[in-house]
Amino acid sequence: MTSATLIDGKRISAELKSQIATEVSEFVAAGGVAPHLVVILVGEDPASQVYVRNKQKACEAVGMKSTLIRLSAETTQAELLDHIARLKADAGVQGILVQLPLPRQIDEQAVLDAIPPHKDVDAFHPENVGLLVQGRPRFLPCTPAGCMQLIASVEPNLAGKHAVVIGRSEIVGKPMGLLLIQKGVDATVTICHSRTRNLTEITRQADVLIAAIGRPNFVTGNQIKPGAIVIDVGINRTEDGLCGDVEFASASQVASAITPVPGGVGPMTIANLLKNTLTAARLQQG
Ligand code: NDP
Repeated sequence: MTSATLIDGKRISAELKSQIATEVSEFVAAGGVAPHLVVILVGEDPASQVYVRNKQKACEAVGMKSTLIRLSAETTQAELLDHIARLKADAGVQGILVQLPLPRQIDEQAVLDAIPPHKDVDAFHPENVGLLVQGRPRFLPCTPAGCMQLIASVEPNLAGKHAVVIGRSEIVGKPMGLLLIQKGVDATVTICHSRTRNLTEITRQADVLIAAIGRPNFVTGNQIKPGAIVIDVGINRTEDGLCGDVEFASASQVASAITPVPGGVGPMTIANLLKNTLTAARLQQG
């Protein structure tokens, strides 16, 4: 039996998407053109294909236009950059997303740097990262923003609370820490990584624990402070199906609230992508 409250990312993301759908129809009614997101998928990675399909479906469900550009796994960096340059110049495209990971021959950072900041709905461009660091974000990074909304659904006040993030990737861990230390949120943040010593000692101090590691069932109940909020970002494919970075069975006996995998952070990431695409359309269409 689960003692923790289940934080339902499906429900919370559905609410956010319904709000976005309303805003899109108001935007169009006021003379704007329906926001248009272009997703570029390079190669045949099965997980990426699922993510891209879900992003496209979500766009259509809220009244946005989405286009998928599929490129072969042999695509060169120059070819990919040409596509981005064309989309950069196209006033009919408000959002550009390059699905990661990219094949080895392509320098991921060079590609992310080439996306024009106003169309960078993933918020990975250095200008958008810089604005976030300075506390004046243009776009919020989708997964960390989703985690913040999930946390807020059970605890709106994080001031002075200790938030521990496991993982320091550019996509999740680092921006997650930045959102938590924003003025107005005011958590005290510890970011852990593979070289952190005494991880359990640290995680057991967390009022809010965010796991973004990429290792199945890595965090167990004995590493969690009783009553903590636990956000599991991990998506791991195992022989038994999908699982998170947190061992749900033991963690849910200790935490006060916890996200499931699937149905937790994943749907929030997509909802925030839609939110950013609408913001991009507003910025570009005045
Ligand atoms: P990365 O592999 O880029 O980063 C993993 C982080 O975990 C690194 O900072 C790494 O440390 C740290 N780590 C690895 N092993 C340990 C350890 N033993 N102890 C402490 N820290 C450790 O992964 P991502 O951040 O991109 O993704 C993390 C997970 O989240 C994955 O499962 C991914 O699939 C999932 N994900 C889910 C999303 C969603 O929408 N739900 C979106 C994005 C990702 P170091 O830096 O030292 O190597």
